[in-house]
Amino acid sequence: AVPVAIVSAMSRCAQRGVLVKHGAALEKMAQVETIFFDKTGTLTGGRARLAASANDPALRPEQVLGLAASLEQLSGHAIAQAVVEAARERGLRLDTPAGASEAPGAGLSGRVGDREVRVGSYAFVAGNASRPAWAAGILERAGYDGSAVVCVAVDGSLCGVLLMADAARLDAPRALRLLKACGVKRIAMLTGDRRDVAETIARSLGIDSVMPDQTPASKLEAIAMARAGGVTMMVGDGINDAPALAAADIGVAMGARGAAAAAESAQVVLLVDRLDRLAFAVRIARGTRRIAL
Ligand code: ADP
Ligand code: MG
Repeated sequence: AVPVAIVSAMSRCAQRGVLVKHGAALEKMAQVETIFFDKTGTLTGGRARLAASANDPALRPEQVLGLAASLEQLSGHAIAQAVVEAARERGLRLDTPAGASEAPGAGLSGRVGDREVRVGSYAFVAGNASRPAWAAGILERAGYDGSAVVCVAVDGSLCGVLLMADAARLDAPRALRLLKACGVKRIAMLTGDRRDVAETIARSLGIDSVMPDQTPASKLEAIAMARAGGVTMMVGDGINDAPALAAADIGVAMGARGAAAAAESAQVVLLVDRLDRLAFAVRIARGTRRIAL
């Protein structure tokens, strides 16, 4: 039977919007030493704003945004939803893509009208192709302002870059401070984004350990390695985080606006869109363990 103290702690967490699926998760939460945070949609709000764009002079900026948003309608990625919103705000009519597929943490490809479109990270969209002159400035800017980059290719060649400004959550610094204060030893960022963008966000939050350019598989590997050194928590929002969430001692999903796959793989779901509630739950878990022993 689950001890009364655990049940009562789970119910207090639930009242604050933290769903702890079973008692064992709460007990492990009491011992957590290392926490890995995903960046986009987890440490950042994911309500990104289109801050700038650049494109091949043969196209118009609205054409690039329209093609990107038409495909992004099919994705649950935080940045994808922001691209769709930016297109809608500008009154663009979106097409229904055909034969589309998503590569989690990388982007999507499919046909929009009579064009073959790819949208997502630079590596996914442009591969090793040399960077066109019109893209140099905007890609450099992303590195120092911490914006997410969304690249668009039509019929195999890069034709546009959207800069999506996605700032750190306002409650993130406080949440991280509270977690450290209740005994968490190491906090690290595990992100599919580029090193320069990741480091800009990490610096603004006082996180000193950053692992950029991660795939769903490499996130999982990082978690498996960390577990050898102590109880490890992973916090994430995307389908690309699902394997890592399942592999961690405690997986925590950003449930309010994250992917359903993430919430299914996790043992803890934040039902409210607030990171400080995670610190609250860890504190409750720590306190409960003392009473239960
Ligand atoms: P994180 O791991 O920090 O949540 P992701 O791996 O989900 O980040 O995304 C990293 C980068 O990959 C984004 O900043 C963006 O450039 C690109 N990306 C991934 N999926 C998409 C998508 N569906 N649409 C646009 N860009 C995407
Ligand atoms: Mg994410």
